[in-house]
Amino acid sequence: MLDAPFAKWIDEHQDELIARLKEAVEIPSVSGDASYRPHVVRMGEWLKAELEKLGAEIRSVPLGKQVLDGQELDLPPALVGSLGNDPKKKTVLVYGHYDVQPAALSDGWKHEPFQFTHDKETGRLYGRGSTDDKGPIMGWINAIQAFQETKTEIPVNLRFCFEGMEESGSEGLEELVIKEAKGEFADVDAVCISDNYWLGTTTPCLTYGLRGLSYFSVSISGPAADLHSGVFGNVVHEPMTDLFDLFSKLVTPQGKILVPGINEKVAPLTDEERKLYEDIDVTLGDFEQAIGAKVTISEDKAEVLMGRMRYPSLSIHGVEGAFSGQGGKTVIPAAVKGKFSIRLVPDLDPDEVNELVQKYLKDEFAKLGSKNTLKVEMLSGGKPWVASIDHWNFRAAKDAIETVYGKTPSYTREGGSIPITLTFAEALGKNVMLLPMGRGDDGAHSTNEKLDLSNYIEGTKTLGQYLLNVPAAAASA
Ligand SMILES: [Zn+2]
Repeated sequence: MLDAPFAKWIDEHQDELIARLKEAVEIPSVSGDASYRPHVVRMGEWLKAELEKLGAEIRSVPLGKQVLDGQELDLPPALVGSLGNDPKKKTVLVYGHYDVQPAALSDGWKHEPFQFTHDKETGRLYGRGSTDDKGPIMGWINAIQAFQETKTEIPVNLRFCFEGMEESGSEGLEELVIKEAKGEFADVDAVCISDNYWLGTTTPCLTYGLRGLSYFSVSISGPAADLHSGVFGNVVHEPMTDLFDLFSKLVTPQGKILVPGINEKVAPLTDEERKLYEDIDVTLGDFEQAIGAKVTISEDKAEVLMGRMRYPSLSIHGVEGAFSGQGGKTVIPAAVKGKFSIRLVPDLDPDEVNELVQKYLKDEFAKLGSKNTLKVEMLSGGKPWVASIDHWNFRAAKDAIETVYGKTPSYTREGGSIPITLTFAEALGKNVMLLPMGRGDDGAHSTNEKLDLSNYIEGTKTLGQYLLNVPAAAASA
């Protein structure tokens, strides 16, 4: 139990804090739709004003232009700023994004997605952006306000970085972070990002790793035009047959990647590390529920978790140019383009993986004796990230979670990627931690996105308590 004055203030002012989230959710700041751009800009202005009310110094930084839906638009500005400049204190940078995914009632929402709905029976706060990522941003604002209202000294200097393009590829942000690494963020000692979720619905998490991604296309072409199999079957080398042969050599149905050199680069598992996965509060049933069927490769929970978090994976996504309609069309496609990707973990670098994949597919293709033409391309590549959980940044958050929730957090890695995490880690060279507020079933990016009121309130206290814990955690480092 946390009975610090700031926490009591939070409990006593829940209605005010809910009203703040309502205001934020009701600005439909969809970054991926040109017609919503004025709302994204308005959301940034609203957030800047909220931060300034707390005494923060905030700059609205233009990030240039983009072309969207055939129009040239100004990118929504990033909000960069600070609160506190005491050289005796540690400096913590917090990141969040004020844009959201698109949403419409017709997608299957129970309530208007941009009308905030507090369901008092279930204690759920519904609305697009409630958990991703407006709830967590409000959490920081709420915690700072609670400190100020209760005259609690904030024992760290804060730096802010809030963007309005996260759901649309964080355009322009990487350059900004690299530039501010020598400016506004020069004194940053640690970074806290609240923009992911607990693994399940009951145990808070701290996230210390993300997988990277290399995405490939494999083009095979031969005939000048599509052919009829009754006329040219068993006459020509068929591109689709070549492609399926190659695809069968990428990964086994047990998930084992067959491209030589990839598994060899993954660090061997230690007993201590295996225990981290065994301790994560999630069951095989949780996975089966999320999948909607009992089709996990392993029945061992720790193996399933490691499959998602600790090991690379290779997934085949689709084939362009293949016949995909109904009925039986006897076409021999003249050219096909297969798509697959590899999720990367340390120490797999996208460029090295690209070389391994290129060489392997070319060697295997040569063995087919086909006269068709092969082209392999890496369409995009992002590096993996992993942080040390022994750093004081993580200890301050772990202690906060234990105080607020009375539970030890699960240490998780995400199977996907949040590219800006790596940008902060590389540009600043400091420890980066992901401290999620919402639950695994919040439906971020989906219909009926929600944040549980208890996660909003206890999550706000957790963010506050984390800041309060920094000096002691850093002193004992
Ligand atoms: Zn997000």
